[in-house]
Amino acid sequence: MSSKTLPLSDALYQYMLSVSLREPDLARRLREETARMPGAGMQISPEQGQFMSLLIQLMGATRTLEIGVFTGYSTLCTALAMPDDGRVVACDLNKEWTSIAERYWHEAGVADKIDLRLGPAVDTLEMLLMDGRHGTFDFVFIDADKANYLNYYTRALDLVRRGGVIAIDNVFWGGAVCDSTASDPDTNAIRELNNTLHADARIALSMVPIGDGLTLAMKR
Ligand code: SAH
Ligand code: CA
Repeated sequence: MSSKTLPLSDALYQYMLSVSLREPDLARRLREETARMPGAGMQISPEQGQFMSLLIQLMGATRTLEIGVFTGYSTLCTALAMPDDGRVVACDLNKEWTSIAERYWHEAGVADKIDLRLGPAVDTLEMLLMDGRHGTFDFVFIDADKANYLNYYTRALDLVRRGGVIAIDNVFWGGAVCDSTASDPDTNAIRELNNTLHADARIALSMVPIGDGLTLAMKR
């Protein structure tokens, strides 16, 4: 027994999946197709998708924002977790990857819930703010380029309602955040974000050790 978060051995990880994962067949196929692509490691893990799905259902979220779609796994989890009138605004730059996403969203019957915006996500967030979407999102998932994480967070905090949640992926960055020899721009950007959130009294905060680290920030 331990009062710290237990490190997950492979055996314990497999056990966790065997007694808890309820991945839809379509989501599993998307994961398998993505696994054959370079960049597959960018996709969230299935247990993280299920955790985010539970969170969205707990909150009764119907308006969500995703920054970083890739082949659409996290967006699929989000869209499936919401009622028919739920809507996701999904931001990415890459047409090739998001066309795979769209194929699965159609097959899952959730394409009508997803508004894909292709372009630099900072521009899309600025556009949403200009459209008067302040305080209108229940849930935001930040998972795009790390250099812009603080830009995404500050805009997400404007766009999310009080009591809404901003989830930020890769806050462990494979462990580099605590490696004093790591000083590349992405690692530094994630450290800066982690430090900023720790000191930000506008949010309630928890850093969840799932996947590559997922920070949850609720706007007070
Ligand atoms: N959430 C996804 C993984 C996202 S990977 C999943 O569950 O599979 C990161 C994504 O961010 C990539 O698809 C990349 O194209 C996108 N991205 C990188 N820089 C971006 C930018 N400036 N604006 C919008 N999207 C960007
Ligand atoms: Ca990620």
